[in-house]
Amino acid sequence: MTRRYPLHCIVPPGLLDRLARASDEAVRNAALDTLALDRRFRLTRAESAARTGGFLARPVTFARTGGQPNRTIHDQQHSESQTPGVVVRSEGQPPVSDSAVNQAYDGLGATYDYYWSIFQRDSLDGQGLPLVGCVHFGTAYDNAFYDGAGHMFFGDGDGQMLTQTTAGMDVIGHELTHGVTQHEANLTYSGQSGALNESVSDVFGIQVKQRVLGQDVTQSDWLIGADIVGPELQPALRSMAAPGTANPHDDQPADMDHYAPGGDVHTNSGIPNHAFFVVATTLGGHAWDAAGPIWYATVCDPALHPGASFAQFAKLTLKHAQRDYGQGSSEATAVRAGWDAVKVPL
Ligand SMILES: [Zn+2]
Repeated sequence: MTRRYPLHCIVPPGLLDRLARASDEAVRNAALDTLALDRRFRLTRAESAARTGGFLARPVTFARTGGQPNRTIHDQQHSESQTPGVVVRSEGQPPVSDSAVNQAYDGLGATYDYYWSIFQRDSLDGQGLPLVGCVHFGTAYDNAFYDGAGHMFFGDGDGQMLTQTTAGMDVIGHELTHGVTQHEANLTYSGQSGALNESVSDVFGIQVKQRVLGQDVTQSDWLIGADIVGPELQPALRSMAAPGTANPHDDQPADMDHYAPGGDVHTNSGIPNHAFFVVATTLGGHAWDAAGPIWYATVCDPALHPGASFAQFAKLTLKHAQRDYGQGSSEATAVRAGWDAVKVPL
């Protein structure tokens, strides 16, 4: 059996395609370079999945009590190799002079801390999976990605589309959450289940950032990637509050009336993203008080199958809201309001 592991990037290929047709030559060239490199990874990954029978080795951990991340940051020194480069900072070591190294270290730590503090989840696999950050990947590379095995790679950006990608706490939370989803529902990365996979990453990515900044739901900008975009994509990659308005190239729909049939997983993810935004802001306080736990219980529910539709996911969020907070609770009412706002039937 061969299985293809999707490479999880923060910037979708559709957006890079549109930028590759941009009038500005520098932007066009940077987008084309990143697209060519991303395409090469996908081929390499399909080949290695075929060689290993499609299974990635999982580390064996003994007697972990949890609560402590195990981080290592590597400097790729602009190489395009997917093998981690020189170790520049290990767990417990003090900051170094390179801010990209420290940002990656802090972002991996903030994500670990979010999952541990709120859900007592010990890393992405729940078994203390070591977190590896690889900074300065490629030259002016306009993306950041998670490889499905605990490694996150960060480009420096070309300065027009993206800037230093390590600066995005939400981006790091987004990428690592792909690892959580992979170990739980393992939502298939196409169609509505793929858009749910993407949305779940945005939902927890923004919470990682909100928690670091101590923001309640009214203080957050609900923007994804606001700290890593250059002039071409400002103010952000995506908006959970108002999908489709994040930047001039943003094509996300905000409800099912505008669902894009056959659309990219990063496009239709605007719909469940906005549902979560409505649930969290209806409830008030911090997003991780109730909205986050309802979404987390759904992602971990064995009843959520890999090919789940928006409606199936939505029904499970209501089930968890009712079970954990009560049938007529404000949490259950907020969940109904969230899916109602995006026209997904419950
Ligand atoms: Zn993603």
